[in-house]
Amino acid sequence: MTNIQTIHCRSCKNSFVVGPDDIAFYAKMDVSIPTLCPECRMRWKFLWRNERTLYKRMCDLCKRSVVTMHHPRMQFPVYCYECWFSDKWDPFSYSRSYDISRPFFEQLGELIQQVPKQAMYSSPESGPNINSEYTNFAGGNKDCYLIFNSGPKNENCAYARGLMQCRDVFDMYYGSDVERSYEGVNIQKSTGVGYGKDVLECLDSWFLLNCTGCQYCFGCVNLRHKSYYFFNEPLSKDEWMRRVSEVLGSYKKMEAARKQFEDFGLKFPRREHSNMKSINCIGDYIFESKNCYACFEVSFAEDLRYVFATKRTKDSFDLVGHGRESELLLEGVGVGWSSRVIGSWRVERSHDIEYCLGTRTSEHCIGCDGLKNAKYCILNKQYSEAEYKKLRTHIVNELKNKELYGLFLPPEISLFAYNETIGQDNLPLSREEAARYGFRWEDDIPRTKDQETMQPQQIPDHIKDTLDSMLNEVLRCVSCGYNYRLIKPELEFYRKLLIPIPRQCFNCRFLDRIKRRGPMKLYERQCGKCKKSIKTTYASDRPEIVYCEQCYNAEVI
Ligand SMILES: [Zn+2]
Ligand SMILES: [Zn+2]
Ligand SMILES: [Zn+2]
Ligand SMILES: [Zn+2]
Repeated sequence: MTNIQTIHCRSCKNSFVVGPDDIAFYAKMDVSIPTLCPECRMRWKFLWRNERTLYKRMCDLCKRSVVTMHHPRMQFPVYCYECWFSDKWDPFSYSRSYDISRPFFEQLGELIQQVPKQAMYSSPESGPNINSEYTNFAGGNKDCYLIFNSGPKNENCAYARGLMQCRDVFDMYYGSDVERSYEGVNIQKSTGVGYGKDVLECLDSWFLLNCTGCQYCFGCVNLRHKSYYFFNEPLSKDEWMRRVSEVLGSYKKMEAARKQFEDFGLKFPRREHSNMKSINCIGDYIFESKNCYACFEVSFAEDLRYVFATKRTKDSFDLVGHGRESELLLEGVGVGWSSRVIGSWRVERSHDIEYCLGTRTSEHCIGCDGLKNAKYCILNKQYSEAEYKKLRTHIVNELKNKELYGLFLPPEISLFAYNETIGQDNLPLSREEAARYGFRWEDDIPRTKDQETMQPQQIPDHIKDTLDSMLNEVLRCVSCGYNYRLIKPELEFYRKLLIPIPRQCFNCRFLDRIKRRGPMKLYERQCGKCKKSIKTTYASDRPEIVYCEQCYNAEVI
């Protein structure tokens, strides 16, 4: 028996390799070796994570209007935050007996269409959101709008994902400890940075790529501890101020600077990844972690594989989101403070949970939805320990026979359509491709077209020329043609920081940032200097110069 196996994914037919570390983990979790490749497994989980597609509907309990990630067409009740966490409803009232003659997931699918769902994903663990109705997978935020997978301790932030402890931050992907900053990707411990990527401890600067400890820099790449640099050239303070103030605030000049900076950046080497303080890790945006493989946006983690956007977790495979003091998780979306959880969606402070949804402070449950403080339950029904063990074995055997045990909840019972979810952001599919994967597609996503009251060319070039009446205008995105509007804190922010009114809608700006972040895919290529082989998110046909970490550090630091 060999300890490396090559498997053909039963969905996409690509082959993938399962190594000794994988096999050891699957044995520890007592699951079969997966028959889906890591990317197809990630798609299955993405299909259960709708962060940004929001709807208005009524709380089915208290009847007040709520913003929700669940399409009004879904038949299960949707409850507001207060109602869902209250004792005003009893999840056991939806219980049913497990029928050993019928497929388990068919029965689970029927149950989850009945049990109430929380309008948005927000947990009391990270604190309540104050005046932040349009935030999802977020907690502990104040005066925030359209921020996702964020918190706690963000204030006056909008149009962002992955924020922690930020204040006055707009249009950002992945930032922590940041103040009054705009349009950034991976900005840490910085203040006053506009248009940056991979920025650490910088101050009052514009257009930065891979800079640390800089202040008053504009259009700079790979600099460390510099001030008053302009496109990597030192200037006198007065000259720097003169050149920068000429550009700030004007849409045409800022756009020209952005394009110039993009070309300029191609002349400099980039690091193979954006990982920091990590040992033996392969992936991107991995911070203070060790032994992580094929992981993206992971911090304070150990021994993870195939994980996206997870913190403080160890010894786990195939996760999207959350984490936080967890271990032995396999195939989870939004699982935290838990151990031994398999194939589950939003589980907190629980252990020995399989194929459950919305479960808190519970143990030894399989196929349940909306339970708290539960033990030995199947399909929300209470069993004795002995009866539970017998029926659980029956279910596990059925799933093992069908090569489903150890995979995530199957697509046919998902609460979402693929184009509502972060799958479409990170691993996009056409409607036809989605159908081939067995994913639902939603045509009825509320957006407006042709309602604009102002054409893009009528927006004043300079922010100082915009009137308060801009807040009443309906604008048209220059990229997708759909309508968008400004909110008051946003206009105030643009005026304070001298940022021109964006000509693109939030969605197009968000997707552009994902492009700047890089794909969730690893490619083999050679270091541009020493030629050693590296695994990077830059495909070999990309125009960037990519160096291995050693060569990059030798040249830049
Ligand atoms: Zn596959
Ligand atoms: Zn309610
Ligand atoms: Zn757009
Ligand atoms: Zn090298």
